[in-house]
Amino acid sequence: MIAIAIDGPAGAGKSSVARGIARELGFIYVDTGALYRTIGLYARRRSVDLEDDGAVAGMLEEITVELKFIDGEQRVFLNGEDVSPLIRTADISMMASRVSALPPVRAFLLELQRDLARKNNVIMDGRDIGTVVLPGAQIKLFLTASPECRAQRRCRELAEKGEPADLQQVLAEIRQRDYNDSHRAIAPLKPAQDAQVVDNSDLTLQETIDTMTRLIRTRLTALQMNPTERC
Ligand code: C5P
Repeated sequence: MIAIAIDGPAGAGKSSVARGIARELGFIYVDTGALYRTIGLYARRRSVDLEDDGAVAGMLEEITVELKFIDGEQRVFLNGEDVSPLIRTADISMMASRVSALPPVRAFLLELQRDLARKNNVIMDGRDIGTVVLPGAQIKLFLTASPECRAQRRCRELAEKGEPADLQQVLAEIRQRDYNDSHRAIAPLKPAQDAQVVDNSDLTLQETIDTMTRLIRTRLTALQMNPTERC
């Protein structure tokens, strides 16, 4: 199996890029952020006290999280309910960031992610895919952009959906999530030592996809020529 890990901060465009490349290569695209968002949603619905270790352990006993791929699109199920449309709000983004700092939550989701990569050629995006989840991934990319750029893109996306947002507020949320994700004790956001870093602050989405696709194709060709590198 081939695994491509794409890590990076919120709003760098990982999912758009990964989805495009997965389609082109016939790989499964796994958006791991959806898993943390789903647990965040459950914690929000049940008002779980995330400071209370017992409450967090109890929550994890009560839930099952599954990913299904329907017409090539990932859907995420929480105790059998398709919660995919419910997990994209700013509130759930922040809840995801909070639950993702908890070691039992990360341990709970680790095997699910690894299992998908054992059974499929995957392109998986997240924060710790190249460092923790799939350290043996054959291709590792880290996609980043300045916080200001990411906030502007997010505001444009929201405006297109008819949900205009305040740029300063979106920027503050992005900075807060960056801080949480990169300062947590477990699996912090950082490029793997063997990752190629792409800063797309000055690139369009299409230019980013082209750049990443070129890097991936070069690496895939190298792997075909030297199959012992595969794992
Ligand atoms: O990628 P997305 O913005 O959907 O992720 C939501 C949150 O889930 C992130 O801010 C991060 O805190 C957490 N996350 C993580 N590890 C991953 C994927 C997401 O900690 N592999």
